Amino acid sequence: MVKAKIAVCVCSGGIDSTVAATIALHEGYELHLFHASYGQRAAKREKEAVAKIAAYLGAKELKFVEIPFFKELGGSSLTDITRSVPVGEEVNLDKEKETPSTWVPCRNLVLLATASAYAEVISAEAIFVGFNAEEARSYPDNSNEFVKRYNAVLEKAVAFFSLPPTVKAPLVDLLKHDIIKKGIEVKAPLHLTYSCYLGEEKHCGVCESCLHRRRGFKEAGVEDTTVYVNKPKGNPKS
Ligand SMILES: [Zn+2]
Repeated sequence: MVKAKIAVCVCSGGIDSTVAATIALHEGYELHLFHASYGQRAAKREKEAVAKIAAYLGAKELKFVEIPFFKELGGSSLTDITRSVPVGEEVNLDKEKETPSTWVPCRNLVLLATASAYAEVISAEAIFVGFNAEEARSYPDNSNEFVKRYNAVLEKAVAFFSLPPTVKAPLVDLLKHDIIKKGIEVKAPLHLTYSCYLGEEKHCGVCESCLHRRRGFKEAGVEDTTVYVNKPKGNPKS
């Protein structure tokens, strides 16, 4: 019997990581979806979405982990409920290298380290992530350079005689509208994804993540069936 090639797919339940997981499936990997709750407001909704996505993609396993210390460390409006998440006109989707309050310090480094531990345990060859050019404008831990350097570290982070997994970021050069087009092409379950930072049942429609989602569908020329609670004001580009 041929041994399946295994991929851990880091999945937040959003569009990017769901498209990346679907690409992994097309490349013939056995999928092990991985979601981390790190104190983010939307953790419960994300987990609900990831469970549906895992079932849709026929994932072999669904792994939920808790990384509780980010909440204690603070420093982000995603994990600190005493701070407000920017909405509407407070959001600028196109500013480069400006750190929004939704930045979680070193989150992707810790997330990938945890996913790498899981990958070593199950002998996964690859770790798929949804990092992309749109997010990399504000979040340096979404960049190609980050992936390259992380992979170099990973070679010395696993046991002797373990084959280090490789982090694969198939969307790293793409903006949101191209990711949505790619998602349609590979038949990713975009209808099951959840993007909102606030974590309410329906998408708020005006947080940074909802605005990226709205604009992405619009620019891709793809019908957006998401139910948004609010319409953006004074944000003509979204
Ligand atoms: Zn939102």
